[in-house]
Amino acid sequence: MTPRFEEFALIESLRRRGLTDPRVAVGIGDDAAVLARGERDLLVTVDMLLEGVHFDLSLTSPWQVGRKAIGVNLSDIAAMAGEPVAAFVALGLPDGSTSAMADELMEGIASHGSEFGVVLAGGDTNRSKSGLVVALTLLGRPTGRGPVLRSGARPGDVLCVTGSLGGSLAGRHWSFPPRVREAQQLHESVELHAMIDVSDGIGSDIFHLARASGCGFVIDADAVPISESLPVDAKSQLDHALNDGEDFELLFAIPRESSARLLKSPPFAEPPITVIGEAIAESGVFLRRGETKVSLEPGGYVHSW
Ligand code: ADP
Ligand code: MG
Repeated sequence: MTPRFEEFALIESLRRRGLTDPRVAVGIGDDAAVLARGERDLLVTVDMLLEGVHFDLSLTSPWQVGRKAIGVNLSDIAAMAGEPVAAFVALGLPDGSTSAMADELMEGIASHGSEFGVVLAGGDTNRSKSGLVVALTLLGRPTGRGPVLRSGARPGDVLCVTGSLGGSLAGRHWSFPPRVREAQQLHESVELHAMIDVSDGIGSDIFHLARASGCGFVIDADAVPISESLPVDAKSQLDHALNDGEDFELLFAIPRESSARLLKSPPFAEPPITVIGEAIAESGVFLRRGETKVSLEPGGYVHSW
């Protein structure tokens, strides 16, 4: 039998090939690529939503699918503290699609994009034999202080997160506000050493920060801000908050000396910013409760075959 594989194994093998080129300042492995253009770099990110995998059209409207298709990309540009600029939308429309459905989908994309100053600049339209496919590429620009990468966390940094975690299964993943403006405001008010958007759950995304930065992290279990709309089931509240994914909040590391100032006068009142832990020299990710510290195994949602 062919061995199973997971999305991160493929991404890691692509990254290890070291596909480097001076024109690509940051390639595979961050939330968006950074294309070096001299006077001002370009950010590029792409995400795909598939009927039957990410959504069911009997439960979700085409408008919601469109909104989310651009929302997840806006969140990746936010993770770089960038300014989103132009969207390119590739559609696979299944048999039976109507122009009203396609219009509604595109309206979801365009209206949410316009809230963030994004212009629809191109795309591709095809017939699909296996459900609705929406692949969206978003271009953006870094703001004045440059792109924030996953790779700059240093031991001693304070680890923070915006908002609360774990509300996605209650439906928030269809209506989350991408933290574009908040990321830019944070970037202006504090030195952001490293940042990622929480797409798979911090139980997974923290490992990306750790690997890229070459450090470890300790998360204080009691500090994790937990959503008020968690499902009630056998899983613990913390398990939901760490691993349900699709929170699309910002997870970032800042120098310890600026953390008190940031928390005392945050650049925005909502969402709250919570300190949930710190970066450490030791590799690995640990969950701390009082004096005890246990190793955290990667969780979160992973596509696998
Ligand atoms: P995110 O959750 O922020 O969208 P992903 O986990 O999807 O990030 O991807 C991580 C990194 O791997 C990104 O830099 C992305 O561009 C890259 N990547 C993912 N799939 C592929 C692929 N098939 N080919 C090349 N790069 C990929
Ligand atoms: Mg991301």
